[in-house]
Amino acid sequence: MTETLGAITWPEAARLAGSRTLVVPIGSTEQHGPHLPLGTDTMVVEALCRALAESNPAKVMLSPTIHIGASDEHRGFAGTLSVGTEALAASLQALAASASRFDGILFATTHGGNLPAMKLARAVLGDQGARCLWWWPGAVPPALAREGDLHAGWMETSIMLHLAPRLVRRDLASRGAMGSGDKLMAVLRSQGVAAVSANGVIGDPATASAETGRLLFEAMLTDLEATLTTGSGGGSGGGNAG
Ligand SMILES: [Zn+2]
Repeated sequence: MTETLGAITWPEAARLAGSRTLVVPIGSTEQHGPHLPLGTDTMVVEALCRALAESNPAKVMLSPTIHIGASDEHRGFAGTLSVGTEALAASLQALAASASRFDGILFATTHGGNLPAMKLARAVLGDQGARCLWWWPGAVPPALAREGDLHAGWMETSIMLHLAPRLVRRDLASRGAMGSGDKLMAVLRSQGVAAVSANGVIGDPATASAETGRLLFEAMLTDLEATLTTGSGGGSGGGNAG
């Protein structure tokens, strides 16, 4: 049975914590173009972590999800909420300290904006000797990658068509800026997404499909599982990507 921390009692947590890694899904509440919901990153990472817990019931305790992360680059769009990198990093460090009864902690996100905070938190926790892993989907099989597809484009729209098709406004999906080229990336970093894309999309969701989303989800889950079992995985703790 999948153990979800919010659904068990403290004596049960006391019995289970020492043999389980606390897996914390870190989402975002940020614009995902005119066609995807603000909770896209949260829904995707939560589904991945739940699937990980279901296939590793003796190793994983699923933590409540963090719904608001570091999304300052999306502040130009209504509905985006962000606590910024420093506050998120401080929060993750405190959270990990409070989870010391567990056999380690794994922070997972599909939102690149959360990565600096996760790495900062992990560096501090690692110095303190805590077992802390982090994961994001750094390694996507080449057949499932698209040049310039950074945000609310082909990949994310496909995954949402797989996970929550009723929340995808296909009729409103349109191409945004293409996320390649040093100039675009420099403007994006210094001025935010609104400075490079009027509709908030970076990529092209036109040919997104639920089947592509299923394949992407499975590839990400395999990668996340590798992080849990070996500490490796595409963009995971101490690893190469980010
Ligand atoms: Zn996203």
